[in-house]
Amino acid sequence: MSQWQPDSWREKPIQQQPTYQDQALLRNVENTLQHYPPLVFAQETRQLYKQLGDVAEGKGFLLQGGDCAESFNEFNAPKIRDTFKVILQMAIVLTYAGKCPVTKVARMAGQYAKPRSSDMETIDGVSLPSYRGDIINSFEFTPEARHPDPNRMIEAYHRGASTLNLLRAFAQGGLADLHQVNRWNMTFLENNPLRERYEDIANRLQDTLEFMDVIGINHANNATLHETHLFTSHEALLLNYEQALTRTDTLTGKPYNCSAHMVWIGERTRQLDHAHIEFFRGIHNPVGVKIGPSMEEDELIRLIDVLNPQNEAGRLTFITRMGADNLEQKLPKLLRRVKAEGRKVVWSSDPMHGNTKKASSGYKTRNFDDILREIQQFFSAHNAEGTHAGGIHLEMTGQHVTECTGGAYQISDDDLAQAYKTQCDPRLNADQVLEMAFLVADHLKA
Ligand code: PEP
Ligand code: MN
Repeated sequence: MSQWQPDSWREKPIQQQPTYQDQALLRNVENTLQHYPPLVFAQETRQLYKQLGDVAEGKGFLLQGGDCAESFNEFNAPKIRDTFKVILQMAIVLTYAGKCPVTKVARMAGQYAKPRSSDMETIDGVSLPSYRGDIINSFEFTPEARHPDPNRMIEAYHRGASTLNLLRAFAQGGLADLHQVNRWNMTFLENNPLRERYEDIANRLQDTLEFMDVIGINHANNATLHETHLFTSHEALLLNYEQALTRTDTLTGKPYNCSAHMVWIGERTRQLDHAHIEFFRGIHNPVGVKIGPSMEEDELIRLIDVLNPQNEAGRLTFITRMGADNLEQKLPKLLRRVKAEGRKVVWSSDPMHGNTKKASSGYKTRNFDDILREIQQFFSAHNAEGTHAGGIHLEMTGQHVTECTGGAYQISDDDLAQAYKTQCDPRLNADQVLEMAFLVADHLKA
């Protein structure tokens, strides 16, 4: 294999990229970003690496979630706060009811680039370039909006930085204090049938904390109780941006992609001889790869050979997105082969992307029961193969959207129009996602 460089991906075939017309402007933007401060610090990504190493060894669970695509329009504090809270609430349910340490990774602060099934979109006989995420072009269906603009990378960097700043403030500034968790405004839970179950956990947690206070192990400076770690992640699709944020770590001398703690390669761009694999093999972050139903055992092993040649636990997470109807047939053979070869990976389930359908009302949707069925099959397959079901990867929001059908409120095809806000794929709403957490916790305990 030839020598890796931050730009060696440019020699390889590449999929799912915009065609920028103004190359001089593109180079200018890349150069500007190269001189901006990194968004994350390499040492932080090593903490995540270590935690994921534990997950790979069966000693923890990865909770990863957020929007399908973050949007420049919906860039505000309540939205960031609500997603932060719901991730934390899920983590509490999983930790407390599932009795398992949870590593929290948000699809936030950079989830701005989207792969699309077609380069063009046609509406009423008019064809325009597809929307590829706010880092590339804009959602409105006009020629101006759909024109890819390199300056959007700078905009994405600043929005990512502000989002990360607020997440860090929430994580360390008191919002994540376990003493506060049961005092959080839980309006979204008001009419939820699971409210009692959540309150029961919150009350038991409160009792435990009071007990710890009494016997003196809960002192004010104990960061474990007052702070949390929420790592960031996104699909590193637009490699111009990812390369520009890649830095040599001064402590280790190794290259890290400092646009997020963890980055992943999507299902459509994981060809072994293409640009994304080339870029990812040289960065030292923990990395993920989406694995769909077409993946075969030999190819999977070759992928591990390239991305994790030292077989380090924590480096590589496989995010499987098979579809509830395919998982039983497709996943077990992969688990068996990876186990037989002694390869260390985290197996995480994305139960969203293999279960997308078109509702009778025309919306792109996913049904809660299909999502749940894929998760259940994921756990069963791991139980049967003696491997660790290490995580879940969800498209979700802390807001009251109606994008996925089903769940405790039985959202129907006709209800979708009420609050269908996503710019890309349908997300679980706060109620649905918490319900999912309880169901997953039951599997973790089992
Ligand atoms: C996504 O996570 O939004 C996505 C596009 O997933 P996949 O690559 O698995 O299709
Ligand atoms: Mn998606």
